[in-house]
Order: sequence, then structure tokens, then C-alpha cells
Amino acid sequence: MKALAIVKGKDGIQEIDIEEPKIEDAKQVKIKIIEMGIDGTDRSILKHSLLDPPEGEDYLILGHEAVGEVIEVGDKVKEIKLGDSVVSTVRRGCNQCASCLHNQSDMCSTGLYKERGIHKLHGYFTEYVVEEEKYLVKIPENVQNLAVLTEPLSIAEKALEEVRFIQQRLPWACIHPEHTYNTPGWGGCKKAMVIGVGPLGFLAVALLRYYGLPTYALVNRDRDDIRVRLIEQMGAIYVDSRNINLKKLLEKTGHVDLIIEASGVAPLILDLIPLLSRNGIFVLTGIPRGERKVCLDGNLIIRETVRKNQIILGSVNSNKSHFESAVKHLYELREMYGNVINKIITKRYSLKDYKEAFEERKKEDLKTIFDMKGN
Ligand code: BGC
Ligand code: ZN
Repeated sequence: MKALAIVKGKDGIQEIDIEEPKIEDAKQVKIKIIEMGIDGTDRSILKHSLLDPPEGEDYLILGHEAVGEVIEVGDKVKEIKLGDSVVSTVRRGCNQCASCLHNQSDMCSTGLYKERGIHKLHGYFTEYVVEEEKYLVKIPENVQNLAVLTEPLSIAEKALEEVRFIQQRLPWACIHPEHTYNTPGWGGCKKAMVIGVGPLGFLAVALLRYYGLPTYALVNRDRDDIRVRLIEQMGAIYVDSRNINLKKLLEKTGHVDLIIEASGVAPLILDLIPLLSRNGIFVLTGIPRGERKVCLDGNLIIRETVRKNQIILGSVNSNKSHFESAVKHLYELREMYGNVINKIITKRYSLKDYKEAFEERKKEDLKTIFDMKGN
């Protein structure tokens, strides 16, 4: 069967032939892949030739945003049934540290984890895969058309869960001082900003708006761009990030309580740290590659961060509980915003058109997916 991989010594995405996998353990499930999202990590692995294959191999099958249909189940599979739609989590824990042993491999403390399609384990840009039941999340029928967004949304879910854990230190909602980050409506009267509206930034905006936070979105596009139109339909406030500086932003938005960074543009991000309010939290999710030197007033940043009890937090990956929250929220986001969420998927390709799918994205592209339902 066909698969798409990064291969040692070759540039760009390669089509390879591999053997169809078989169930080898009673806890495994065989899946036919029906949709696959392409994301910034896939493109970045290819652009920077970041081949990180399974031990002893010289290629890595890419793809980690997988939706599949179950076509075979092992004898010890409990919940998942033939015909179910499933999404797969990405990280496989090290099996040694407390986090991994407690289903929180996203917080692995040894760094010896693996990630499907990214780091030492093959991914899902292929036709069939075999996976253990415990790594799969069932997709109810009513959100199947959005299932491919589960993985990227799970990344935003984790980031916001982290924020909620940490900000329980504050009486968060000013109208109801008894509200903390853990009570419904926690977003109410604090301001958020999302930097960069690719698919992850878009889903972060959707979730912040769902939680009721007034949300600014910093986008390097004109007002008529699709991403601007979509976030405005969710009630977010568009701010053009081109030709902006801290002073102008402070006049426009004031200090913000929560910043979710999804652009990976180091100078922009670091310049905006002083935009954070007192007790505010700045979450970094973009992963820039290569080197980028930045000139900063270090004393100012340290002084302000200390004096204002601020937090700068990195958040990567997501565990099964975040996938489960994502599935629930996909339904609710569609109830709230109707087709706005679907519209993030701007291009669909069949697997055989992989070259086009990986070409430089056009201005109007937001999320590209492989649609393999017809194959
Ligand atoms: C994936 C995460 C992963 C990260 C770093 C992202 O694209 O969504 O699951 O942890 O890349 O490898
Ligand atoms: Zn671990």
C-alpha cells in the first residue's frame, strides 16, 4: 500500500510502498484511514529535513492528524467496534516517568517519548494502520465531518487547561469574584489575545470565544482574508500585525490577561511580552526551527515579569483527555458557530495528489487535508 514519507537523502515528500499492517496483538485495532490533516509540523519537518525515523530505519511516514474507520478488532478490544470512526492520539509515553505512567505522556519528564509521524514512530499518511485501542478516541456520528480537527483542537484544549490550572491562583472573574478558572463562564471579564491565525490559532480563538473571553486576534493579513472573516464571525477582534508595535497595540487593546501564541515568530512574540497584564499568562505553542537572534531589553522583561507576577508557559502536545474534550467541544462549537468551524478546511486532496497538497500554501488556504473516503 501507499504511504507518504520523508526519506533519508531525498528532498521533500516521497511516495513509498509498504506492506499493509496486520493485527499482531489482541488489544490492537486495524483502521482504514479516511481523513488526514496536514499541519505546520509536517511542512516544517520537510522544509528543514528533520528526519527522525524509528530506530534502524531510514524513512519516517509522516502524518499525525488521523481519522479512520475501524475495519478489524483484536479479541481483547473492549469498547471500539467495527465501523466506528476513530481519531488517534500522537504521543507514546516513555513508560518510565510518573507522567507517562499516569496517562500524561504530554508531560513526559524523561523526554524518551515517541510521536506518531514526527518522532521515532511512523505516522498515518497511508491507507491502513494498526493501533492499540488505548490510543484511540471514538468520534460520535454528529461530529464526523469535523473529526479531522480533533488533534489540532486538542492542542488548544491542553494549553487552555494549563492556563486554568495555573490561574486558579486568582479570583479570575471580576463580576463574580467567587469564580475561578475552574467555574463555568470563567472567561467572562478577562481579555485574551491570539497571535497568529493558522489552524491552531483559529481553533484557540474558537475555544476562547466559547469560554466567553473577549479575544483579539493578531493576523498578518488584510481584512478580506478568509481567516479574518472567520474569526470575526466568532466575535473575535481583528488586529493587523503588520506595522504594529507595542505602543500602538497598548492603545488599541490595553494589557491582556492571556496571550496564546501560535505563530512561532520569535521577534514578534518577545516584543509582546510587555502587553501582558498583571498576573497574566503568556502561552507559547509555536515551535520555530533554526536560529533567530533577537535584540531585547532583558532587564525590562525580567523586571516587569517579576513585578507583575507574570507567567510565560510552553505547552506542547496533548493527551487522551484533551482529545476527549476536543470531541465534545467540536460539537458545541458547531452548535454555536454553525458552518464557521467547517470552513477552516479550505483544501481537500486525495493521497495520490500529495505533491500539490504539500506545495507552498496560497493566501486563501487555511487547513489542507487528505480526503481518502473515495479511495
Ligand atoms: C503535534 C503535537 C506534537 C508537536 C511536537 C505538533 O504538530 O500536534 O502533538 O507534540 O507537534 O512534535
Ligand atoms: Zn515519560
